[in-house]
Amino acid sequence: MSKTDTLARPDRAPGAPGLGCLDDFPRVRFFDAPTPVERLTRLEAALGAGPILVKRDDCQPLAFGGNKTRQLEFYFGAAQAQGSDAVLITGATQSNYCRLAAAFAAKLGMDCHIQLEARVPRSDPAYKRSGNVLLFEMLGATLYDYPHGEDEAGADARLEEIADDLRRNGKTPYVVHLGPGHPPLGALGYAVAAREILEDGLGADEIVVSSGSGATHAGLLTGLRALGDRTPVHGICVRRDAERQRPRLIERCGEIADLMGIPNPVRPEDVIVDDRFLAPGYGRMNPPTAEAIQLAARLEGLLLDPVYTAKSFAGLVDRARTGPGDKTRLYIHTGGLPALFAYADDVREAL
Ligand SMILES: *Cc1c(COP(=O)(O)O)cnc(C)c1O
Repeated sequence: MSKTDTLARPDRAPGAPGLGCLDDFPRVRFFDAPTPVERLTRLEAALGAGPILVKRDDCQPLAFGGNKTRQLEFYFGAAQAQGSDAVLITGATQSNYCRLAAAFAAKLGMDCHIQLEARVPRSDPAYKRSGNVLLFEMLGATLYDYPHGEDEAGADARLEEIADDLRRNGKTPYVVHLGPGHPPLGALGYAVAAREILEDGLGADEIVVSSGSGATHAGLLTGLRALGDRTPVHGICVRRDAERQRPRLIERCGEIADLMGIPNPVRPEDVIVDDRFLAPGYGRMNPPTAEAIQLAARLEGLLLDPVYTAKSFAGLVDRARTGPGDKTRLYIHTGGLPALFAYADDVREAL
């Protein structure tokens, strides 16, 4: 077999729809795929578990990287295709999404307008000024405050108002929407990642990933199923409980398939969400989260953030401890590390 044969794209399984028109979407790229994969042998030994692999989506060159890079490739592709010169985005005060949008905008010579939602009940200087907030300022973004944290439609409507103002001033803005009701372009980034995982031939028996807006979880799941792969994807809830997250995911998967122009390959029973590590809520720690941070750091030198990856890693640790000991588990590290410094006191308390 020639080298090109071994590197060839995994053909979709017979009967699977494939990724449709995924590669026809405009895309702006600032990192070379695939991201590195690391094995956690000391953690495996400590938990008495089979192989644990980590796909290091936190290891990318642009502004600390993370899952939002893959998502923004498609939004900025669309923005550039429309000739936009300004991007508007909304997120929590310590949003990784907003940080990476500001970095993309800087790199492309566009303006970035960031709306920060009061999603976490905190007003201490570290939370309001350090971590990602410092990076927004360094990257030259314009910041706006939004007083609500659980009003996605309201946050999007406010962005549209800001966009109208910009238009009146001669700008051509592009809005990255938060709430449902808009095509989930960013999720396509994780259909790309699904293909990457299969190309890497990691042989995972199950995948564990954070489930927040669901773009990452739904994109990954739809991509895998579209290629005919049936690996279970465990979405660990970081934002809302399973009862609210599940229907959202099911709907998102359908929308992603629509975008790719394929029949929806995801069955409702494919959507696995686990909210046991969510309490007391978004951006707030709990004992399994604290344990996950310690285990990853002290056994593997692997750093986790308290909002997203520590929760999903707690889910991975739980599965590795209680599940069959001969399975290969793949964890997706989605990044988020700059927020560590905004949560320094919480993290220290947990050690
Ligand atoms: C946003 C984010 C998530 C959640 O991803 P979704 O696509 O919104 O579900 C997970 N990890 C990190 C570090 C994030 O910034």
